[in-house]
Amino acid sequence: MNLLEYEAKEIAKKYHIPVPPGVLIEEPGQVQQAIDELGLPVVLKAQVPVAGRGKAGGVKLARDPDEAYEIAEELFEKEIKGYPVYSILVEKAANIQRELYLSFTLDRANRRVVMLASGEGGMEIEELAKEKPEAIIKLPIEPEIGLKAHEVREVGKKIGLSGNCLRSFEQIAKSMYKIFMDYDADLVESNPLAITDQGMMALDFRMIIDDNAIFRHPEFEAARERELRGAEKIAAKRGFFYVELDGDIGIIGNGAGLTMATMDVVNYYGGRPANFLDIGGGARRERVKEAVKVLLENPRVKVIFVNIFGGITLASEVALGIVAALQESPVKKPIVARVVGTAEEEGRKILQEAGIPLFESMDEAAKEAVRLAKEVA
Ligand code: GDP
Ligand code: MN
Repeated sequence: MNLLEYEAKEIAKKYHIPVPPGVLIEEPGQVQQAIDELGLPVVLKAQVPVAGRGKAGGVKLARDPDEAYEIAEELFEKEIKGYPVYSILVEKAANIQRELYLSFTLDRANRRVVMLASGEGGMEIEELAKEKPEAIIKLPIEPEIGLKAHEVREVGKKIGLSGNCLRSFEQIAKSMYKIFMDYDADLVESNPLAITDQGMMALDFRMIIDDNAIFRHPEFEAARERELRGAEKIAAKRGFFYVELDGDIGIIGNGAGLTMATMDVVNYYGGRPANFLDIGGGARRERVKEAVKVLLENPRVKVIFVNIFGGITLASEVALGIVAALQESPVKKPIVARVVGTAEEEGRKILQEAGIPLFESMDEAAKEAVRLAKEVA
């Protein structure tokens, strides 16, 4: 589960990581009060649970109250990377001298927590890794020993730090590692971790909590509820009939009857549906793509089962939609498809070429979805 930036920053503060002073607002009318408290200029940051908001127009600098009000109005109207904006973090703008990158994440292949650091922050790490992998320094952490201060300092030196900056870097790295362990995180990231005229500061702070560990952190229940309700709201906005349930198999069908029957079959074979999603009749590829994306983005969904009986809905359009969603979404999940009826041959060919398991029988498809969900869990 993704925490929102302001939630992650609350945790950062508890662990003595410097962050800019900020005020959370839920409507444009509150922006003046935030400015009174913080002073100008301010940065307005849309609170959506994804990175790369800056590029998507979700982070904006305002020099005066009118500009701030206009930006707030505009952000609350917008969707940032598909997410509606329910709150904005208004922060005192910092004077940035240098942007660094620092994160802790799991290196699954090596079964270690790894610290990643770079002197070239600001850019998304995936891009940096592609364009300039040598600029990212990796420090694997021995689980029994933890983070070693001298190793952190070496990394700091390699990214060009010395003196006070190096000392701040060491302190912040220690705190971030502690947060990573204490909160069962999958990711704790500051990008940029900035050198400013007020010292080193986490201008951006991001946390992803391991979904399997949420039961150990009852304080996140509200955030999780919000994330799930978010899925319903997003689906409703995109015009689907969508109901959130508490299982882990994502269901897409056409027509309420078939969609409910699909849920029943999944239940019958011992699986638990994560939702009800009816794409309606005659859906074209764009609509199918959006539906699949809703489930790809839903953190609870482990496997997606698409069950379409094509009458006015063309199987080929459904297939193209599924493939497009998988190509566009950064999140990948196993998909099981049963697509029969009009344009079946064409649809089957498209899905086969994309390597998506296809079934003619609803029972066989359901069994496979249940098996995959157990395997993923
Ligand atoms: P992200 O795009 O979702 O990762 O959002 P960030 O919080 O990282 O903001 C994007 C970019 O906005 C950063 O890389 C900074 O360059 C810039 N930015 C954020 N906060 C400030 C600030 O206080 N002052 C200035 N000058 N730039 C900022
Ligand atoms: Mn960032």
